[in-house]
Amino acid sequence: MAAKIIRGSEIAQQIRVDLKRETALLKERGVVPGLVTILVGQNPASMSYVAGKQRTAHELGFHSVQDNQPETISEALLLERILQYNRDPRIHGILVQLPLPPHISEQNILYAIDPGKDVDGFHPFNVGKLMIGQADFLPCTPAGIQQLLLRSGVPIDGAEVVVVGRSNIVGKPIANMLLQKGDGANATVTVCHTGTRDIGFHTRRADILIAAVGRPMAITVDMVKQGAVVIDVGVNRLGFTPEGKAKLCGDVDYEAVRQKAGAITPVPGGVGPMTITMLMANTVKAARMAAGL
Ligand code: NAP
Repeated sequence: MAAKIIRGSEIAQQIRVDLKRETALLKERGVVPGLVTILVGQNPASMSYVAGKQRTAHELGFHSVQDNQPETISEALLLERILQYNRDPRIHGILVQLPLPPHISEQNILYAIDPGKDVDGFHPFNVGKLMIGQADFLPCTPAGIQQLLLRSGVPIDGAEVVVVGRSNIVGKPIANMLLQKGDGANATVTVCHTGTRDIGFHTRRADILIAAVGRPMAITVDMVKQGAVVIDVGVNRLGFTPEGKAKLCGDVDYEAVRQKAGAITPVPGGVGPMTITMLMANTVKAARMAAGL
C-alpha cells in the first residue's frame, strides 16, 4: 500500500491559524510580536527565504522589519545593527539569514544576538538549553519535524529513530530533541554521517527515518524498512522549469520509497513550510516572554 503523505503545508497552515489568533490576543494586551530579518547581499535563495518569512510575519499581524545590507558591509557594522535590535523593545525576534559573505564570521554574528531574541535557536545558550531538555527556542527545522510527527499521530516514544546528517541546524538538534525524556520524544536515536560504515544497516532498522543530507537520492528504497515513517528534510535545486520556477527535490527517492514507507513527507510541501511557521511560533513566544506573559 502506498504511504500516507504527510503534508507539511497543511499542518503549517493549521498552526498559523492558531498563531494569528494568539497574535490578535497579544495585541489586545498591548504586545505586537516583532521580527527583523537581516539579509546581507543578494543570494537568490536567501532572498526568496527571507521574502517568505516576511510575508508570513505580515500575514500573522506581526511588526515585521526587513533589513537589507550590502554584500560589502563590515562585520563591525553588522554587529552594531544586531546590538541595536537587541535594545529595540519593538523587536522580539532577530533572524540573520545565512550564509553570510566570507569576510564576516557567522559565529561572531550569531553569538551577538540576545539569547532572548534568538528565534532561530542557534545561540550556544539556547543550544545548551536544548541539550538539557529546557529549551526556550527550538531551532525551526527540527521543531517543524517534531510537530509533523506529533500532529500526524506518529508514535515517537520508544521508536527507533535514525537521522542521516549531523549538521548543527538539523541533524544534531533533531537527534537531541527526540532522545529527551519526555512527551514528543523518548526515542532511541542513531545519527549517521560520512564516517558511518554502512548507513543502510542503520536506516533499515528505523521506525522513523530523517534524511538531512543535501544530496538527491541519498536514501533509496532498499535503505527503508517496510512501513517506516520517512521525513525528507533535503532541498536540492535541480535547475529551473520552463516557467522559471526552481525545480526542487529532497534527499529521498520519493517515488520508490512512497510504495514501501508507512508515511512520507514530499519535497516541496513537507518540512519546508513548517520551518517558517516554527520561526513565527518562536517569535510569538519571545514576545510573550519579553512581556512576562
Ligand atoms: P549540511 O550542513 O551540509 O549537512 C549535511 C550532513 O549530511 C552532514 O552531516 C554530512 O556528513 C551528511 N552527509 C552528506 N553526504 C553524506 C553521505 N553521502 N552519507 C552520509 N552522510 C552524508 O546540511 P544541512 O544544513 O543539515 O541541510 C541538509 C539538507 O536539508 C539540505 O538539502 C538543506 O537544503 C536542507 N534543509 C532544509 C530545510 C527546510 O526548511 N526544508 C532547512 C534546513 C536545511 P558530515 O558531517 O560527515 O560531512
